[in-house]
Parts: sequence; structure tokens; C-alpha cells
Amino acid sequence: MIGEAKLRPPRGTRDLTPEEYYRYAWMERVLSDTAELYGYLRVETPAFEHFEVLAAKAGPSVVEEIYYFRDKAGRELGLRFDMTVPIARVLAYRLDVPRPVRWYYFTKVWRYDEPQHGRYREFYQFGVELVGSGTPRADAEILSLFVDCLDRVGVEGYVVKVNDRRYVERLIDAYGLSGRRDDVLRTLDKRGKVPDDDLVESIAGMGIARAAARDMVDRVSREVSIREAPHMMREVGLGELADRYEALAAVGRIGERAVFAPYIVRGLDYYTGLVFESYVPRYGLAIGGGGRYDDLLEIYSGVSTPALGFAIGVERTLEVLALQGRLDVGPPRVDYYIYVFRGEHYSAGEGLASGLRRRGYRVVLDLGDRSLRSALDYANRIGARRFVFLGPREYERGVVKVRDMDAGTEEEVPLGGLA
Ligand code: AMP
Repeated sequence: MIGEAKLRPPRGTRDLTPEEYYRYAWMERVLSDTAELYGYLRVETPAFEHFEVLAAKAGPSVVEEIYYFRDKAGRELGLRFDMTVPIARVLAYRLDVPRPVRWYYFTKVWRYDEPQHGRYREFYQFGVELVGSGTPRADAEILSLFVDCLDRVGVEGYVVKVNDRRYVERLIDAYGLSGRRDDVLRTLDKRGKVPDDDLVESIAGMGIARAAARDMVDRVSREVSIREAPHMMREVGLGELADRYEALAAVGRIGERAVFAPYIVRGLDYYTGLVFESYVPRYGLAIGGGGRYDDLLEIYSGVSTPALGFAIGVERTLEVLALQGRLDVGPPRVDYYIYVFRGEHYSAGEGLASGLRRRGYRVVLDLGDRSLRSALDYANRIGARRFVFLGPREYERGVVKVRDMDAGTEEEVPLGGLA
């Protein structure tokens, strides 16, 4: 015997039994269909990677979260913490795949994080990567697809908080902290999780006056319409960037959903330009996020390849849908439960089952080890729609009794009529 505690899955992981699993399967279908409408194709890669590949551009806090192990030959490996890195790795050697590459995935990733509400150690991500284009249209495509995905699964009231790393970096430089860019970005990434005063304290500690640090935190904390972003960018001398965001804000679907939120910087070190995250009211965690990572592929292949993408957290999105009362997906119901009373009539029951299955119905044929009463109870508990009874008298007359389990009604149907 194994103790009860060990029968539960390891901390931060979950068992997906059918009630749960079919929700994932539904989401997989909706999101995959959406990606394919934009010409994206599905990929899968190994669960584990060379540790060196994973660690290359993750940043210290993410490296801490990598499930690391050595295999029996002593290779240093790790479980993937996202799919952007594996896809970048694949495309770094598959130079034959025509650029731009449009790929998507729906799969598991692992992070050794502190498990809590909405934070698991093993979870599913759906995401897309658009590799090989640095144009503003590529940014627009990814943001439009992101919005479309959230709309199609039915998330209500979400906003997409958009920023550009180059804008915050310019601010950081303006405050005289160009030598501490990464530290400032990591500090800003904590905004919302720790009080603003702590952020000010931490930035002041990097060598600027507290008042200046306060000013900077206030400045990045302001959320404005995406249409105001170009103006703010021009103010700090980023004219070209401003033109890009003008074009982006003009894309209808993006203009409707996006706000400019300069404190959104994202935790991963590989981001270089556009970054974004989506939030819904009364749910503190991001349900999805993404951005541009124009230098990542070059680290692996030496070939400069602009790229961007996003990932949507499947668990969190399902949770939000449930909170919003918009999740009515469950396992499929059995259409017919067939109960054959006498062993010698089994083949008639079997024939009936095959006929129904050929027509696409879900059919369970009773295994012959329970009473009629117990079979009825079981059929009810597994949610069968109809209970078919083939007794000796029915068999003689070439009919079956069909009970509608929802309505509680019963009728006699010719055996041939059913199949
Ligand atoms: P990230 O690249 O970290 O922003 O992850 C993309 C999305 O994955 C997030 O917006 C979340 O929805 C989801 N996600 C990230 N970390 C976790 C986690 N530990 N547990 C569940 N979902 C997560």
C-alpha cells in the first residue's frame, strides 16, 4: 500500500480526470482552429532540453525555476519552461523552413515555482511564434491573433496591456541607470506583486535619488490609451518607434482592447521590443503574454532572425471562464447503454451495439456481471442518455425497451429500427 499523501500528484501538478480533461480538449480545439485560420501549423518538441539551451537567455529568476537533472550518461538536461526557447532552437538548425515561420503549440511546460492559486509546476500553454519578420505588420498579426484567441474561447472584459522594451529602456537611461537596465527591468516586473514603495526603494538603491526613483515608478505606472503611446514615445525621442505604434493602434481589434502600460516588461530576458500581457477584472494574474525576441535565434544559430509570439495559460484561462460562468464543457455522454438479460442473447446485443456505433453513437454494452437494477443505477451515474433493455420476451418479439434517462420515459422499438 502507498500512503494517501503519495497517491495525490506531486506538489504543483494536477490529475486531469475526464470532467477536467475535456475542458482542455475543448480549449485545444478552439485555439488550434484559431491559429490555423491565420496559417499557423502545429509543432511539438521534447519535454526536456540541454540545460545550456534553456539557460542561454532565460534570466536568473527563470533559471532558478528550471527542473534540472542529469541523465544516466551525465548529460545536463532540464524540462522546458516555455515553448519559445525550444522553437527558437529548432529553427536555428532548420534553416530550410521558409521564413517567416508560423507555428503554434498546445502542450505542457514546467517551472519550479512556489505553487499557489493559478500557479502550477506543470501546466499547459497554447501559443504561437512568428519567426523571421521584424515588420510592424508582424506585430499587428500577433496582437490580432492574441485578441482573436481570447475572444473565441469567450473570455470577457479582458484588456491587453502593451509596452515596448525600448521605451522603458530609454526611460531607464534618462534616469541615469543605463548600467543597471536589467536590474531595473526585473524590479519593474514585480510591480503589482509588491507595493510601489518597495519598487522605489529598490530602484533608489541602484544609485539615484529617492525622488527620482519615485518619479520613474509613477511615470511607468500610468496606463493610457494605446493611441497616446506614439506621443509619449516621441517625447523621449523615439520617433521611429512612435510610427510603429501609430500603425498598431490603428488596427481596429487592437485599438479596442489594448492600453499602453509602460510597467509591463515581462520576466524573461529574451524580450527586445513589443511586450504585452492580458488581464481580466477581478483576477490578479495574467492569462497570457508575449512579445518580440529579436536576438534569441542569433544566440543559437548566429543568424540574425527577428521573431515574436505569445503564450496563453490554459489553466488560468479555464479558471477565468469558470468564474465568468462561461464554461459549460464536459465529457461527452454515452448515447446508449445496452443491457442484455440472458447470456444466449448476447450476440443480438452485440449486433445492436455495432450497428449503433457504425452510425456514430457512443455505446456501452453491459458486461454481464450485474443485475438490471444495478445496471440502471450505473448507467444513470455515468450519464448515459438511453438505457436499452433486451429481455427474453423482447427478444422473442424482435424488439427492445428503450428508456430515456433524462425524461424517465420508456418505449418499445423494433430491434432493426434502432440500429
Ligand atoms: P509567461 O511567459 O510566464 O508570461 O507565461 C505565459 C502564460 O502562462 C501566463 O500568462 C500564464 O497564463 C501562464 N503561466 C505562467 N506561469 C504559470 C504557472 N506557474 N502556472 C500556471 N500558468 C502559468
